[in-house]
Amino acid sequence: MAAHDWFGCERAEAPRADLPLIEAVHAEPLVTALQEMCARGGGRIDADTVALPGTYEAALRGAGGAAALVDALLGDGARTGVSALRPPGHHAETDRMMGFCFFNSVAVAARRARDAHGAERVLILDWDVHHGNGTNEIFHADPGVLFVSIHESPLYPGTGPASDVGSGPGEGYTVNLPVPGGTGDEGYGSLVEHVTGRLIADWRPQLVLISAGFDAHYDDPLAGCRVTEEGYAGMTASIRRAADAVGAPVGLVLEGGYDLGALSRSMAALMPVLVAEETPAPESLDVHPLAERALERLAPYWPGLRAAP
Ligand SMILES: [Zn+2]
Repeated sequence: MAAHDWFGCERAEAPRADLPLIEAVHAEPLVTALQEMCARGGGRIDADTVALPGTYEAALRGAGGAAALVDALLGDGARTGVSALRPPGHHAETDRMMGFCFFNSVAVAARRARDAHGAERVLILDWDVHHGNGTNEIFHADPGVLFVSIHESPLYPGTGPASDVGSGPGEGYTVNLPVPGGTGDEGYGSLVEHVTGRLIADWRPQLVLISAGFDAHYDDPLAGCRVTEEGYAGMTASIRRAADAVGAPVGLVLEGGYDLGALSRSMAALMPVLVAEETPAPESLDVHPLAERALERLAPYWPGLRAAP
């Protein structure tokens, strides 16, 4: 990012999230437990989630940066932006830290949009290769946050079947799009363009957040998908076109991605598309069978999707 002069973006240090902001998403005992564990020097939360002395501070800033991104988009009129912070957040549930995640930063960001900026409709696209079980759980019954997740299945954490569509008033507002290992640009790109893009056109969210992991990249060691740097840039173009058409700003929040070369090359490929002045030019993308089947499944909840261009 620095080598590209930050793509012309204005840079800001991530503030610590205030506790009420975190506790709008997480149970208070989870916050206290992490704070106390880190103050004692750290500890192990589960087999792959370890807190270090600085983790509490880092997690506060991860969530605070994502909330500040929303303030820039919905308060200050920025059209696009990025919160490029770790630790990731999308596996963290209301009362459970797991999967390298402590506070669910994208959920904190969506809540910030709803509570501080009056946004009634926030769409979160999670293209991390793992299912965003935390975000899925936090907004399961909330019809104001449409959660769309593309994830390899079977894979950690094992949640997110296509049959999980949300609950109560949120039924239909959780869209799980599991894909088999080996899925590459065509499958991912089509699910973003033809499913997520049509959901944006139909529902007209006031904000689009991308839970952007880069572990679906072909070089990533933790999963088996085959997305390329060009694939990430193409998915970003699809989201920009759809979001621009309904006047929604787009905020990208970093999640996973465990090959640092793949992560940095993918960010470098998508940033010019994300921050471009002009809406990316239309592209004609085939409707992949994965997208075809998803549109069929979604028809009872989203009758407008199949008729969309
Ligand atoms: Zn991941």
